[in-house]
Amino acid sequence: MTETSIRRPFIAGNWKMYKTAAQAAEYVSGLRSMLPADPKVDVALAPAFPALEAAVRAAAGSPIAIAAQNVFWETEGAFTGEVSAPMLNDLGVELVIIGHSERRQYFGETDQTVNRRLKTAVSNGLRPIVCIGETLEQREAGLTFSVLETQLKDGLAGLDHETAEKLVLAYEPVWAIGTGRTATPEIAQEAHRFIRHKLIELFDKRLANHIRLLYGGSVKPENTADLLAQPDLDGALVGGASLKVDVFYKIVDIGCQVTA
Ligand code: PEP
Repeated sequence: MTETSIRRPFIAGNWKMYKTAAQAAEYVSGLRSMLPADPKVDVALAPAFPALEAAVRAAAGSPIAIAAQNVFWETEGAFTGEVSAPMLNDLGVELVIIGHSERRQYFGETDQTVNRRLKTAVSNGLRPIVCIGETLEQREAGLTFSVLETQLKDGLAGLDHETAEKLVLAYEPVWAIGTGRTATPEIAQEAHRFIRHKLIELFDKRLANHIRLLYGGSVKPENTADLLAQPDLDGALVGGASLKVDVFYKIVDIGCQVTA
């Protein structure tokens, strides 16, 4: 994944609990044959743990980076069911999604555990994609900004500037995930602008302008261009629409055109 340019657009696919190792390898091979050698956006895919190795192998030497969907904060020990950062390093995984709303909703993830996972990821050379976002009830109660502020303050607590440099944030309103109900570009931009301002308070302007903010929530080819045209949207975290290679490729291709 390119490290050179600041806020280079970034399109990542989150496969959630879909695809075996063989299916992952087939998909990645297909995508790499469609992509130009040097796409104008960074591209990543997040398979489930058992498919990571096959995906890394199939992506080797291509512009596709492979992400895990979670990482534990200890490096080894009696933690049944968990996967550590050194284990992901060993597979050649480059990135990791942390704090996805499904982890928060179904598996008790909190801003505090997000913070621990985040620090471990970065200290082990994994680039974190930290997810934040409000639920429908919170939005309807007018709590969106205070929820985002808490998630940022607590999730990123104690992060030094060097660690924050590595950060990618994904704003994923929970009401838009897997529902087909995408945030309008204006709603997404409003939240992204708020997040960027909070990053100035938490770090400084330079870092706030450097950290990429992805939007996630029912992104599909039909809405990608309008979303990515917003000034504070630097890419997308795509769930359902990343499961079919031709659909995900279309989103990446639109990202390249918006960038061109
Ligand atoms: C996600 O899983 O991060 C996501 C945004 O899902 P979907 O695109 O299906 O809403």
